[in-house]
Amino acid sequence: MAKLKVAGYWASSCGGCEIATLEIGANIVKLAELADIVFWPCIVDGKYKDVEAMTDGEIDLCLFNGAIQNEENEHQAKVLRAKSKVMVAYGSCSYEGCIPGLANVANQEQIFDRVFVSCPSVDNPDKVIPQTSYQAPEGELTLPKIYDTVRPLAAVIDVDYFVPGCPPTGEQTWAVLEAVVTGNLPAKGSIVGAGTRALCDECKRNKEEKKVKKFYRTHQIMPDPDRCLLEQGLLCAGLATREGCGALCPAAGMPCTGCYGPPDGVVDQGAKFMSAVASIVDSNDPAEIAVILDDIKDPIGTFYRYSLPSSILRRVQIK
Ligand code: SF4
Ligand code: SF4
Repeated sequence: MAKLKVAGYWASSCGGCEIATLEIGANIVKLAELADIVFWPCIVDGKYKDVEAMTDGEIDLCLFNGAIQNEENEHQAKVLRAKSKVMVAYGSCSYEGCIPGLANVANQEQIFDRVFVSCPSVDNPDKVIPQTSYQAPEGELTLPKIYDTVRPLAAVIDVDYFVPGCPPTGEQTWAVLEAVVTGNLPAKGSIVGAGTRALCDECKRNKEEKKVKKFYRTHQIMPDPDRCLLEQGLLCAGLATREGCGALCPAAGMPCTGCYGPPDGVVDQGAKFMSAVASIVDSNDPAEIAVILDDIKDPIGTFYRYSLPSSILRRVQIK
């Protein structure tokens, strides 16, 4: 049997998804027997021109992690889409935008100003910022253009499957690889390696009545080890998040931050999370409600940590 051709790519992301692929553990030996890695800049040497020279559909599976934040990300997404039979948005950044997607609270000019000029730890008296083209004595040097708005992978190309998680677990990764190896592929557009319900359904913590008079940040209280964290005032996103990770974070005493994206039937994870939180505030007095909600620091980073680019609003409007 001919070996499968597998590719991987890292667009706008932290690189954690690349490391997470190694969590398939001993299955890596099986993968080596069944597939050749034909392009994966993080782990094998390869050049863009090698991919561009391939025939369309030559790659059997591409695991694409990272959001689309610049011209290079978009170009590579389009090239790899053409060359791949199965294209997988692998991890929260390519699925929903994730942490790079929080750049959508600003535009490119504001981000450059903060990162290269006004940040207190930066020493840049001439206010030099990156240029897309620079004429060096040796010739022209170029950098990809950064966009104002970060987009999930499916906003620029047709995606076959989605693997949520920041990062995905080894089981999820192997589920995709195995589906391609065995030809047992789910329906196009499926979310692979996760369930359909909310994370609360698989969380083992005791659930009672949810009525909250004060919200806390994780360093402010030592939560009861058995009771639902949201009931204790910790902003746990379990009600607005897809099951599948085994409720890893609540099991370790930390609130879920929502990295698996919304469960089936939820269009906007942040709106669902906000609605769940609003419904448990234990007061009818507007002034008291305002004080309780004031405990929630960084609302966008809390409610839309992973999903701003794929939310209904997509970004903050800059006047
Ligand atoms: S809100 Fe969080 S801690 Fe509570 S049941 Fe849901 S996942 Fe578990
Ligand atoms: S508990 Fe939530 S944040 Fe933690 S891994 Fe699971 S989905 Fe992600």
